[in-house]
Amino acid sequence: MNTHKCPNIEEFKKILKSKNLKATPQRLAVHEAMMALGHASADMITEEIISKGTTKVTVASVYNILTNLAMLGIYDYRMSSNNKMYFDVNTFHHIHLYDKENHMFKDIIDDELIALIEAHLGRKRFKGYKIEGIDIQLIGKPTRKKYFV
Ligand SMILES: [Zn+2]
Repeated sequence: MNTHKCPNIEEFKKILKSKNLKATPQRLAVHEAMMALGHASADMITEEIISKGTTKVTVASVYNILTNLAMLGIYDYRMSSNNKMYFDVNTFHHIHLYDKENHMFKDIIDDELIALIEAHLGRKRFKGYKIEGIDIQLIGKPTRKKYFV
């Protein structure tokens, strides 16, 4: 199995089953939207689902589904600098590029870079702490200007 892909809808159904969760239309719609958006807040996911018009959801129900799935480790989550909780459909180890103008995350898949950083940090000691993980995030802004008409 490719560990650099998020679960497709069939794999997602199996994951739900393994966690004793029903594959409700709302949960499936959330995952469809997560696959489309990659990283998104509950508001963004709700908007995406409503724009499709096939499943009835509210921001509150979407938020509950997302946090529940994040607590189970099915999704990852991170805060944006404008203080929104973004959920991440990819739970494998990866690097983020944060667009600070549009508040969007992009994934950077670079196992070699992660291995280099981990090897380097693995030799270091941080007094009083046991390091549990490394979270790499680059911060940038778009080089191309957007024109609004
Ligand atoms: Zn990500």
